[in-house]
Amino acid sequence: MSLVLVLNSGSSSIKFQLVDPDQHATDEPFASGLVEQIGEPMGRVTLKHAGEKHVVEAPIPDHTVGLDLAFKLMAEHECGPTDVELVAVGHRLVHGGLVFSKPELITDQIVDLARSLIPLAPLHNPANIDGIEVARKLLPDVPHVAVFDTGFFHGMPPAAALYAVDKELAAETGVRRYGFHGTSHEYVSNKVAELMELPKAAINQITLHLGNGASCAAIKGEQPIDTSMGMTPLAGLVMGTRSGDVDPGIVFHLHRTAGMPIDDIDELLNKKSGVKGIAGVNDFRELRRMIEEENEDAWLAYNIYIHQLRRYIGSYMISLGRVDAITFTAGVGENDSFVRADALANLEMYGIKIDPERNALPNTGPRLISAHDSVIKVWVVPTNEELAIARYAKAFA
Ligand code: AMP
Repeated sequence: MSLVLVLNSGSSSIKFQLVDPDQHATDEPFASGLVEQIGEPMGRVTLKHAGEKHVVEAPIPDHTVGLDLAFKLMAEHECGPTDVELVAVGHRLVHGGLVFSKPELITDQIVDLARSLIPLAPLHNPANIDGIEVARKLLPDVPHVAVFDTGFFHGMPPAAALYAVDKELAAETGVRRYGFHGTSHEYVSNKVAELMELPKAAINQITLHLGNGASCAAIKGEQPIDTSMGMTPLAGLVMGTRSGDVDPGIVFHLHRTAGMPIDDIDELLNKKSGVKGIAGVNDFRELRRMIEEENEDAWLAYNIYIHQLRRYIGSYMISLGRVDAITFTAGVGENDSFVRADALANLEMYGIKIDPERNALPNTGPRLISAHDSVIKVWVVPTNEELAIARYAKAFA
C-alpha cells in the first residue's frame, strides 16, 4: 500500500496522518496523531493506529523534536514513515496569497515564496513553513507538496475578490478577499458533480463548510465566484469562536472608546466570539444540549448563527442565478440535522425542499437529503481535507 504523510503544522501543534490516497473519505486513515504543546514545559504526542491509541509525554521545545518524537512513536508501533511505502508528504499551507493557485512541489524557491507571504498570515504561515522545513530534513527522499487553503479561490472575479477601499493601498498591502477552506470546497464540489453524474462545468453549487471554522462558497461550474472568508479566516459566517462579519467600525470603537489594545480585539474576535461569545460554548453538541434545557443564550447564539448562514445562502442564490446543488460538510454540516433543516427552512418557493427522514439519517457517507421534487438538490458530503491533500501530493510521486 502506497501511503502519503499529511502534515498540518500549527504554532504549538502538528497534526499528522498517514493516508492511503485511494481510500474512501469515511475510512479511518492508516495512522493519525497529534503533537501538542510544543514550546511548553511538557508536551504530548498521541498516535492512533490499528484501533489503538498511544500517548507519549515529554518536553517538546520545537517542531523538530515534535516530529522526531512522532516518527519514533510511529516506528515503535510499526507504522513509521520508514516502515511503510511512503510516496510523498503533503503539507497544508494556509495562505498562498496571489502567488499560488494550485498545489506545488516544494523546493527551496517555493519555501522562500511561501515565506514572503508571512505578512498575510502571520499566525499560520510561519508554523506551516517550520513544519515543511523539519519534515524535508527528516524525510529527504520523498517529494514534499504544498497544498494551499486559498488556492481554489485564486481566480475569483474581481467584483468578489476586491474590497471597496483605496485601490493602490489595497494592492500594496495585499488587502483583498482570498478565501479559505478551499481544499474542502473543491473536494466536496467535485464529489457532488460525481454523485449527480454531471460534468462539474455544467452545474452551479453552493457549498457550506460548517465546522469549528465555517465558510461557504458559490461555485459556477468549475469556478468559485464568491466565498465568505476574506483576507483572513475571520470573515463571513458565525463560527465556533470567530465572529464572522462584523461592522469594521466596531474595531475602532473598542480601541478608541473602550481602550482595548489591537491584540486584545484580535483575540476577542477570533477566539472569544461566535457561538462561544454568546453561549459560552463552541461545540454544537453542547449547544444543542443547552437549547434542549431551554438555555436562552444557547438559543440566541443558534439563531444568530442560522440568520447569518441564511443571508449568505440567499445572496449566493442571487449571484449564481441558477443553483443545482447545495451541500453541507464538516463537523456541524455533516452531523447536525437541525442546522441543515433550519438553514433551508421555508424555501420551497425557491425550489428547495429537505426530506426530514433523509435529513435525519446518521453521517455514514455522502447522501442526498432533499425531497424527490426539490428542484435544487441538497447533499451532505463528508469532507476529508487530509485525503484531498494526500491525493494532490501523490500526483507528484
Ligand atoms: P470540524 O472543524 O469540521 O472538525 O468540526 C468540529 C465541530 O463539529 C465541533 O466543534 C462540533 O461543533 C461539531 N460537531 C461534531 N460532531 C457533531 C455532532 N455529532 N453533532 C453536532 N455537531 C457536531
